[in-house]
Amino acid sequence: MEGNKADYIDVGKYSIKIDDFLAYRFCCGDQETIKCTKDNKCCCRVFFVDTTAKKVNRILDILDLISEFCPHLKDGDEYLNPFEENEDKRYSLDTKENDYCAFSYFDKNAALRCGIHSAALKINADPFFYKPLTCGIWPVAIFKEENGREVVSLGVGPKGVCLKKKSKIDNRIDLGLMRILKLLLGKDMQKLIDVLSDKHYTNKE
Ligand code: SF4
Ligand code: SF4
Repeated sequence: MEGNKADYIDVGKYSIKIDDFLAYRFCCGDQETIKCTKDNKCCCRVFFVDTTAKKVNRILDILDLISEFCPHLKDGDEYLNPFEENEDKRYSLDTKENDYCAFSYFDKNAALRCGIHSAALKINADPFFYKPLTCGIWPVAIFKEENGREVVSLGVGPKGVCLKKKSKIDNRIDLGLMRILKLLLGKDMQKLIDVLSDKHYTNKE
């Protein structure tokens, strides 16, 4: 593993690259979303996204609702297939002609939205339950090492787009990033909070 051992906090199967989390703030909002869309740097355009059969089935369960936000997913009374099965039993998400993910759409303010996210909110469900893991935890990313260890860090590409480097690094973790870590770690979140408390990091959730 690269870096000093002290730069990582081990929680369950994950090694969390803590210095990254202390150095950046997550700042995706409507203005940033519109800006990155205009610059063609939006995360829903520049990355290849794949997911599991389990998530595909969940998405298909609400496809009718998703298509209310993404009418391009329908051709008359029929749905287009937005997935492609890969050899390793994973499914990649199709893209539209403009290279944006098939599940993306633009709202009336020209901000990019995710149809899966919007549909889940409409039925008061957790978008994380339906969205591919990559999307649900973005801009946090998981890098699998050869030894099987999974390093949790921040995506390299978006650091200049949706993450702002703090002018002065402190010992606080941005609340937006803490929320994502909680989604990822589930009940193990308490272990991370305990370590953070011991190290006098703040912004516990
Ligand atoms: S599934 Fe949603 S969040 Fe993920 S790339 Fe597609 S539109 Fe973006
Ligand atoms: S997460 Fe980043 S790249 Fe994605 S929409 Fe927000 S600002 Fe843009």
